[in-house]
Amino acid sequence: MAQLDETHDRKRLSWVISANGHADFPIQNLPLGIFSPPGNSELRGGIAIGDMILDLTAAAEIECFKGEAREAAEAVSSGNLNDLFALGPAHRQALRKRVSELLDAKGRDAERISMISGRILHRAVNCTLHLPARIGDYTDFYAGIHHATNVGRIFRPDNPLLPNYRHIPIGYHGRSSSIVPSGTPVRRPAGQLKAPAAASPSFGLTQRLDYELELGIWIGQGNLIGKPIPISEADQHIAGFCLLNDWSARDIQSWEYQPVGPFLSKNFSTTISPWVITPEAVAPFRIAQYPRSEGEPRPLPYLWNDRDQREGALDLDLEVFLMTPGLREKRLSPQRVAIASTRHMYWTVAQLLAHHTSNGCNVRPGDLFGSGTISAPTASGFGSLIETTAGGGQPIRLESGEERRFLEDGDEVILRARTRTDKFVQIGFGDCYGKIRSGESIVFGA
Ligand code: MN
Repeated sequence: MAQLDETHDRKRLSWVISANGHADFPIQNLPLGIFSPPGNSELRGGIAIGDMILDLTAAAEIECFKGEAREAAEAVSSGNLNDLFALGPAHRQALRKRVSELLDAKGRDAERISMISGRILHRAVNCTLHLPARIGDYTDFYAGIHHATNVGRIFRPDNPLLPNYRHIPIGYHGRSSSIVPSGTPVRRPAGQLKAPAAASPSFGLTQRLDYELELGIWIGQGNLIGKPIPISEADQHIAGFCLLNDWSARDIQSWEYQPVGPFLSKNFSTTISPWVITPEAVAPFRIAQYPRSEGEPRPLPYLWNDRDQREGALDLDLEVFLMTPGLREKRLSPQRVAIASTRHMYWTVAQLLAHHTSNGCNVRPGDLFGSGTISAPTASGFGSLIETTAGGGQPIRLESGEERRFLEDGDEVILRARTRTDKFVQIGFGDCYGKIRSGESIVFGA
């Protein structure tokens, strides 16, 4: 696990004034991303600081970095973070330490750098954020045990959790081509649907469009095919975290998913938050994995590591907000419909990676994992509408007077993640946002 150092010091403030007290991006966070500056379509590597973005290439050009920090800053000039991820933790940590020092209000470079800040800082609101990496492969897990139980109960009331669940991290291979950055509109998909009572399927727009609240996990250094990553080394291969909304068409899913898992119900769009929150940034928010109770099986040895059990879980509050045409019309704020926590993951991130490579499967820098939907044990924290509305049977009532069973056109879904502790400065992930556009009816054979 990443160590605590001066970059986590709660007394450290930045000369970038908007960073101090910023809910997501104080100087203790320093997330990595890819952006285009105003009026320029070039992709550049950057670090979020308050309401601003530090341009790493511009900072390297004025000799802000040396050694490993310089190599790290230069690695992002390719317009994605894959090469930086491939360099591994030491380079990423060196870059963090140096950027923290550069932006520190009491740092030895503060006066010199703040004088020329116009050359290296951009207002984030004027920039475009992109996917941070070329995503080779995307895997979605199912590590939220309360979600697995809730959804299982809808399909199998007597036997909600399948017997393999507590032994093996369940997952499936997703699709990387349709992963989009926060803000990209999401088109309501069409597909083959079959209502339970219908005799045969039809083709049309989904009527049961849903979100899934997930933690995204960025892979750093990969492994060679045939060489599993042992759980004791798994952290060294994690480059960071994001929020992930695994948009799901439940009526397509329920008809297509057996026997080999979801397919077109999931791969029309997956939205991620664009900033990569590093393992160093979340180091103060590591906690023990929730202990298994007496009757639960102990994981097999390749999934067990004492240190990982002691400090391998994350303590992040996760929230889902809905904004609807009715809320907008009445000038109401987005309404929070769920609050959950990464504490509700049944498997740690290290267990997911150790399992994924346990058969010799190789992962590569810039691969992305989804945790699976994370739900709290009670209805105020369910991470998808199919759970919150009990399969669409019990609609959510919104402050606008509207009801929602599933998402409607014009609805916006915002996911947020924030830390919660008094001992350290709060950090957040930035928004993971998407708005539903109407689908277009497609006529085949016309
Ligand atoms: Mn999912």
